[in-house]
Amino acid sequence: MTQTLTKKIHLVDLVSLHDRLKPELDAEIEKVIASASFINGAPVGELECALSKYLGVKYALGCANGTDALQIALMALGIGKGDEVITTPFTFAATVEAIVLVGATPRYVDIDEQTFNMDADLLEAAITPNTKAIMPVHLYGQPAEIERITHIACHHGLDLIEDNAQSFGAEYKGKKVGSFGRVSTTSFFPAKNLGAFGDAGALFTHEEDLFWKLKMIAQHGAKVRYTHELLGVNSRLDTIQAAVLNVKLKYLDEFNKARQAAAALYDHYLSQANLQTPYRDINATHIFHQYTVLLPKAGMRDKLQQFLSSRGVPSSVHYPIALHLQTAFRDERYPKGALPIAESIAERVLSLPMHTELDEEQIAYISEQVIEFVGRKESAT
Ligand SMILES: *Cc1c(COP(=O)(O)O)cnc(C)c1O
Repeated sequence: MTQTLTKKIHLVDLVSLHDRLKPELDAEIEKVIASASFINGAPVGELECALSKYLGVKYALGCANGTDALQIALMALGIGKGDEVITTPFTFAATVEAIVLVGATPRYVDIDEQTFNMDADLLEAAITPNTKAIMPVHLYGQPAEIERITHIACHHGLDLIEDNAQSFGAEYKGKKVGSFGRVSTTSFFPAKNLGAFGDAGALFTHEEDLFWKLKMIAQHGAKVRYTHELLGVNSRLDTIQAAVLNVKLKYLDEFNKARQAAAALYDHYLSQANLQTPYRDINATHIFHQYTVLLPKAGMRDKLQQFLSSRGVPSSVHYPIALHLQTAFRDERYPKGALPIAESIAERVLSLPMHTELDEEQIAYISEQVIEFVGRKESAT
């Protein structure tokens, strides 16, 4: 029996989420408008304090977006020309873009077949005399093996920069990710688990000196206005965005629980489907920025996506091309085939609708359409 849809299915549903929070959001935004303090208004400092407490890191600094945050982190650590930064080829482009923008060279390690995160077993072999930092990503909301990565960074005297844009609120062995790195960064792009009403981001560090350096760089390299000691950028968090985030941060754990509940329902309804549902690391919590399934064969994904679309189910691919194969980041050391797991997984992943407003009826419907296309596992027929 085919179920019918009673509500339109969205890939992301910010409209319904914000409707629920509208009175609070409107009040905070109106206060900012009344104050006309659009840059460095009081909500920015309040947010930085709340974010640092939430993550368990001493210092938080708001900035304009998650990409700037990565670039500012690299600049503050003095990473540039001739330096290598080890990262994953299977992430949003910003991670690698920031490394290239500061003049450094990305060095890739392939990913783990189950978590799709940087494979910590391959890390030490990628370290060279030029390596300055390791930059792991906690992809889709699931922490990388951050404890092992931290030990390796420490043992080799390398800086650890966590790109925590997709996993704000996730934990590894009970400790929030984003609190392991010498610097960590996040993004408050609207569709992230904690999203603003436009671009926004933040940086975190336990070190006071480094915090001030990050802050100077984000404000044109000046501690005192019009006195520029360092080469910097203009990357501030707008007061209006901070006001929105102050409201939404209070609900972040609730949002993440709603995503986890949706993921558990998907797991249940897709348990017989001929595909791989998201792996869970027993040491970590997964906060499902994406619910991404892995298809058994290349070539199935695009057809499944078209089929789902014809059934009213939107989906998305995160990410279709591993970064070492992108024209913008071409590097002869990484030809096609150099990072086989990332390359193969990029051809087989599909992200299903994932947000705080999904209900069981929708998840059952989506799962039913997926199973109609991919079939059931052989052992299950
Ligand atoms: C979203 C994202 C970024 C960039 O954040 P922006 O705020 O869009 O600049 C960086 N890294 C990862 C892994 C992301 O998902």
